[in-house]
Amino acid sequence: MHNHGELPFVFSGPDLDRLAPQRNDAEWFAVRLTDPATRFVPVCDEDNVLLADGVTPLLLDASAAEVLQTGAQCTVLLGEYRGQTYFALGLSGDTALPGNNFTLTNLRPQFGMLEDDALALLGYARAMVHWHALNHYCGECGAPTQSRRSGHELHCSRCGNILYPRVNPAVIVLVTHGERCLLGRQPGWATNRYSTLAGFVEPGESLEASVRREVQEETNIRVACMHYRASQPWPYPASLMLGFRAEAENTDIRCNDGELLEARWFSRADIARGLREASLTLSTPQSISYWLIREWFEEAPGFSLTELAVRAAPSTRA
Ligand SMILES: [Zn+2]
Repeated sequence: MHNHGELPFVFSGPDLDRLAPQRNDAEWFAVRLTDPATRFVPVCDEDNVLLADGVTPLLLDASAAEVLQTGAQCTVLLGEYRGQTYFALGLSGDTALPGNNFTLTNLRPQFGMLEDDALALLGYARAMVHWHALNHYCGECGAPTQSRRSGHELHCSRCGNILYPRVNPAVIVLVTHGERCLLGRQPGWATNRYSTLAGFVEPGESLEASVRREVQEETNIRVACMHYRASQPWPYPASLMLGFRAEAENTDIRCNDGELLEARWFSRADIARGLREASLTLSTPQSISYWLIREWFEEAPGFSLTELAVRAAPSTRA
């Protein structure tokens, strides 16, 4: 898997073979469903399931999964990981799982607690189950859809329309001007919490145009040049965060569209002081937002966000 320095993004792995060629093989699918080595990742409505310890994913074997199959909403091939085949099992929230004492979670409180590969597998599972849950019926004619290709396509039972899993691209950008960077605060956030700017790409828009528009809409700042840096899958519910660094042409901030309550220019010293005094909180260290800030922050000698963050209380929200 890709490591971005010593801080990998959550959901950006795992080292998983998605087995795309096998998705068409119904016989292979059926055999793997009952293989004792196969593991099932349950997703109950929108929630992942952890054991009582709060950090170990609940994985079901084939016999446990078979008991739940009658009430299951979908079974989706995820792939092969460390020699085992994994499926996502979409269940309703009131399903009685084997054993007791589980934690149902959207995973955000567990960032930094779960293994990176476990988070990635659970995030992939929740994204696929969410897509199934939203597409029981054909958008063209309203007839029920049927799962095909090991859960990676939904076919309309009447008109033949085929639905594919959707990923929604969103740009996330660290804007800089000289020795300062631009961070914003959304309504509803804690008063000391600031983050990079972000927004969804619209139809008919390039990534570059999307970065320019989002930054201008949210802060009145015009972006001159930009560079793509890295990406992070974000299963809330189905986004892909495309991370950019951009340079500003102007500095007069005006929050135009109500998406941000406030935006400010921060020097590295401002950020260091804010984190030290706990008057500033950034996104979770496992997010691309944090990574973009850290990358810029540590380009100046003597500035280490990692060192500062160790002392600050870890945020559980991204
Ligand atoms: Zn249809």
